[in-house]
This record gives sequence, structure tokens and C-alpha cells, in this order.
Amino acid sequence: MALDLPKSLSPSSVSTFKNCPQSFKFAYVDRLPQPASPAASKGTLVHKALEYLMLRPAPERTLDAALTDLDRARAALNDDPDFTGLDLNEAEWRSFQTEAEQLVRKYFELEDPRTVLPIGLELKLSAKVGNTTMRGIIDRLELDADGELVVTDYKTGSVPGELWENSRLGGVHMYALLCEQMLGRRPVRVQLLYLSKPEAIIATPTEQSIGGVERKTGALWTAIERACNLDDFRPKTGKLCDWCAYKAYCPAWGGDPERAVELRGAAALAPPLPLGTPVEPAVELLLPTG
Ligand code: SF4
Repeated sequence: MALDLPKSLSPSSVSTFKNCPQSFKFAYVDRLPQPASPAASKGTLVHKALEYLMLRPAPERTLDAALTDLDRARAALNDDPDFTGLDLNEAEWRSFQTEAEQLVRKYFELEDPRTVLPIGLELKLSAKVGNTTMRGIIDRLELDADGELVVTDYKTGSVPGELWENSRLGGVHMYALLCEQMLGRRPVRVQLLYLSKPEAIIATPTEQSIGGVERKTGALWTAIERACNLDDFRPKTGKLCDWCAYKAYCPAWGGDPERAVELRGAAALAPPLPLGTPVEPAVELLLPTG
């Protein structure tokens, strides 16, 4: 029986399908929730703290202020299922908090936030790409010294190797495509700030790179349509299996995919991505005119 197609794609769902179609089916076709994980929750916490920091007037964006914002973020997320669902003992909580603080401190080694001119934070973008809709959330959209658009994405995981970097940059160019279609201007730079090392990976979007994203997204959507029509999503084992929330239900590891619906029993857990949700920017865009 043909399965319902997802309503849209995101950089993250595209990457999931490329890495493992079975995992894509669990997350984006069956819409099964994923248990809270310390790594993902730490990322949410640090992103929130840096969002608060960027909402401050530029001269106030100091390290002390950022650590205060980390406390504010902790308080704001205290009742969030991503945090209440974490099963950590006291020592693990301490190390969770220490690592989050280290990520905030390392951010300051990458840039001086007092020089950043943000015009959008946690910005939800959406655009038609071929036969599908692409959605994405940009951590930070800013203007450089020449008034050109720059997209910044904070990463709290480890810096990828060369192969992974190419795949991550595919996502980066998708953000550039979304900006160009929604805002009418192509960003001059898209940067991934890997806080753990810390290291910045910077890409310059071009007409060719954006055209490549459009072509590849069209081909990928055709592959997803076919997989849904035939209910044929094959598992692709690899090192990502060690972090896969669905491994216990994966046929490649002796699991029964039919039993994965029991994940829905955890009422506190949220679906993996807000696909199909409205796309208003979280803050008002302050694009210069002319
Ligand atoms: S365990 Fe591995 S093969 Fe199975 S769904 Fe997850 S990523 Fe895919």
C-alpha cells in the first residue's frame, strides 16, 4: 500500500534520507518521536543561550552576559520534554552543564558577538523547490560590513571529516537557496560555527551551487515518492546506527519496525521536526531597503 508523502523536506530530512531511507521512514513518514538525548538537548540549550545573547544590544554581548543567558535558557527549558525526558544521574547532569558552558565559552573564540548585526534569529524559511516544499530554520541571519546577507548556523556536535563536511555543506547551500527564494537576495556567505573545537566552516553560495541543490532536491524527491509508492525504504547500516533512535526497531539489526509505534506511547516526546508548520519569522526581519 502506498504511504503518505511527507508534506515538505528540510536540510535535516534530506540528509536523513541520503544516510538511511529506513531511518527517514521512521522519522518523517511514520512521524515517530525520538527519545530525548543529552547531545540534542545540550544543543538546544546552547542555541537558546546564544539566541538570548544576540537579542541584547551589541555592546552588552560579553562572555559574562552569555553565561547569564545560559542560566536564563536553562530556566526557560526546565519543563521542556527534551530536558525532563533525560535520564541522567547527578554526575551526568553536572557534566552536561559543564559541557554546555564550555561550548558557550568556545563560541567567543570564533567571533566577537559585539560586531554581529543580526536581522533574524531562529528564522523559519520555506520555498517551493521543484515539486516539493523545502523548509529550514536558520539560527542567525545577519548583515556583513557591506550590507550583504550572511547565514550562520551553530553546531554543537563534533567537526565533521572531509566527506561529512561535503554533506553538511549541501545543507548549507539549501539555506542559501531558501534565503534567495524568500528574501530575493543570495547570501554572500554561509558559515557553520562548530563550537566544540572551535572551528568555522565557511561556504560561498554561487548560482551553480544553488542550481545543484535544486536539481539534487528534485531527484531526491522523486526517489522519496517512489519509496512511498512501493513502501520500500531500505536500511543503510553505518556508523550513524550507533546514534540511531530507532535501532531497536530496525530490521537490519533484527528489530521489528511494526513495533516502533510503541514510541508513540511516550506522550511527553515530540515529533522530530515541525514539518508543515507555519513559516513566519520568529523575529521581525530588518532588511535594509534599496
Ligand atoms: S539503525 Fe542504522 S540502518 Fe537501522 S534505521 Fe537506524 S541508521 Fe538506518
